[in-house]
Amino acid sequence: MKWISDLIDLIFPRSCVVCDELLSPQEKDICLDCLSKLPRIEKIHLEEIEKTFWGKIAIERATSFIYYHKSSPYNNLLHHLKYRNHPEVGERLAHLAASELMETGFFDGIDAIVPLPLSKKKLRKRGYNQCDYIAAGLSRATGIPVITGAVRRAVANESQTSKNREERWQNVAGIFALKEPDLLRDKHILLVDDILTTGATLASCAAAIQEGTSCRTSIFTLAYTYNGI
Ligand SMILES: [Zn+2]
Repeated sequence: MKWISDLIDLIFPRSCVVCDELLSPQEKDICLDCLSKLPRIEKIHLEEIEKTFWGKIAIERATSFIYYHKSSPYNNLLHHLKYRNHPEVGERLAHLAASELMETGFFDGIDAIVPLPLSKKKLRKRGYNQCDYIAAGLSRATGIPVITGAVRRAVANESQTSKNREERWQNVAGIFALKEPDLLRDKHILLVDDILTTGATLASCAAAIQEGTSCRTSIFTLAYTYNGI
């Protein structure tokens, strides 16, 4: 009922998570102006994203939607998704990303979308897995089903943020375990995470899946950490 949402807007005005300007009733999370300037990944960096995984795991395709880099106000989208209890932001952003990506054939042949699992401890603390919402947004646009529960995080690893590139790869080796390999067997899966930095966590999860099934793997992340722009 539109009048209810209009009334709620009047009592609790919503503002754009990027520029903080008030949103119109039709706008969600982000104003049209900020939406039109989303920092989409440039083609040259799309190749870099695929190269992140070369020599580590076998992947079919890998891509990301927007840049996540120091001081960008667009980082707020990811902060809302991960830390401020607004996972719906991730669902809508992923839906937009998938609607655009579908034209490129990125989803062709993909049988299932698999969100990267969180550790039980983190899930309890946050109350939701942000990757589930990203997967749901991709699924809503593409019609590809989401499979959860096939793989789990066996070890709650230490935070990656204080570690260098080499330490990050060692820190996550063997932290995932296959729970229901039959759910994924012989499929081409799209493994989904929020932000791609070194790719170590995604590669570790993909390795666990590939070891126990004959899955082909592609990768999607909402954002890509790039500090050179
Ligand atoms: Zn805005």
